Amino acid sequence: MANNPEDYQVFFGCSDFSGLFRGRAVSSTLYKSKLNTGCGWVPADQSLTPFGEIGSSNPFGSLGDLRLIPDQKAEYRIKCDEMISPLHFFLCDITNLDGSPWTCCARNYLKKGIKLLKERYGLSLKIGFEHEFTLIDEDLISEPVFSLRAFRKEEKFISILAQSLSHADIIAENFLPEYGVGQFEVPTSAKAALAAADDAVAFREITREVSRLTSRRVSFSPKVSPEAVGNGVHLHFSLLNDSGKNICEDKNQKGAMSKEFSAFCAGVLKHINSLTALGAPSSVSYLRLKPHNWAASYNTISLQDREAAIRICPEMRHNNRKISSFHGEIRLGDATASPYLHLGSVIQAGIIGLENSLEVTRFTENNPSEMTNKERKKLGLKRLPRSLKESISLLSSDETFMRSADPLFWECYSDMRLTEYAHTKKLNEKELCQ
Ligand code: GLU
Ligand code: MG
Repeated sequence: MANNPEDYQVFFGCSDFSGLFRGRAVSSTLYKSKLNTGCGWVPADQSLTPFGEIGSSNPFGSLGDLRLIPDQKAEYRIKCDEMISPLHFFLCDITNLDGSPWTCCARNYLKKGIKLLKERYGLSLKIGFEHEFTLIDEDLISEPVFSLRAFRKEEKFISILAQSLSHADIIAENFLPEYGVGQFEVPTSAKAALAAADDAVAFREITREVSRLTSRRVSFSPKVSPEAVGNGVHLHFSLLNDSGKNICEDKNQKGAMSKEFSAFCAGVLKHINSLTALGAPSSVSYLRLKPHNWAASYNTISLQDREAAIRICPEMRHNNRKISSFHGEIRLGDATASPYLHLGSVIQAGIIGLENSLEVTRFTENNPSEMTNKERKKLGLKRLPRSLKESISLLSSDETFMRSADPLFWECYSDMRLTEYAHTKKLNEKELCQ
């Protein structure tokens, strides 16, 4: 059958707690008959660390059966000239055998948040993910950062990636050679929350596929080496009302936050440590979350500042036409997180803000790392967790936030992350990046 291009394998997969995309493949001649019933899955799979071992005290052991059920709205099929067979996959929900959502399904965690936000507050989110990655080169001669030369050096890779993303209906706003050696950024057009998170999962898989096809090594690691510029995943978010209108800005005051947006952001800030445990969830994530990396390192919200945990992005106009609306950007995340957990945690914290009518009382104006302890204390500024161990411990003490999921969900998550920590804690920074 290898010569029949119509017979190839279609992958049913899920983005799991470790941020990796795992699943099973079925024949293209059969997959349509399996769309409703999916394929089998095992609870302990959710306890796999990124290094492949199962969490040492995982709550499941060898027991249990689950299903991976493809969401037919989350189908990605890409065929470009360089491919032998199409890259064809479905993003799946993990369900119990009766079809109900499994307690520890990451995609369902996000879906629950989206539903709650809509039902309770009539609000929805428009989300744009921005991914950074590094094309690793043994050739030490680097091109000037942001330059056409740096871009053309990887033109083949970028062209195939652009073509593949467009097959998948993922709209790259641009491809930019970034500040780091071999580093690129791809901001994608905003979509509704679930579709945006699905696309973020697909984006990483498509990029990895293109790297295989072009024999280029790609890494989404938050740090490819201790001295390298970090790779972040920035999450742009706007709150929309029932009619789909962006309501982030105060109707009566240009550049000020609306009550709802302020409450949402204040909830995010209040639970920022827990968000870090889900959005920057690997040992290596904490090499990036340091001052002067243009990534978040303090619990700040600021106007336009690229070191803030939440950056408020201004409206942009051209010839009187609005190109981009006033909205927020969360800058702590990286690609070792499942987009479902990263975005799901933002929504859950935002809901807590709305529920308690919290308010953002002031924006931080200066860099907290350059303030004195006394100044920081006065403004309530604190460093984000500095290690995976610290972030998991702060998450475990955040009872209000932990109500957003079942205790089993947290038991499984903390165990697999602490197993990852145990695996990496003796490594020096260089070994950790490797
Ligand atoms: N590379 C930076 C990060 O790790 C972000 C740079 C930027 O795009 O502003 O998040
Ligand atoms: Mg960037």
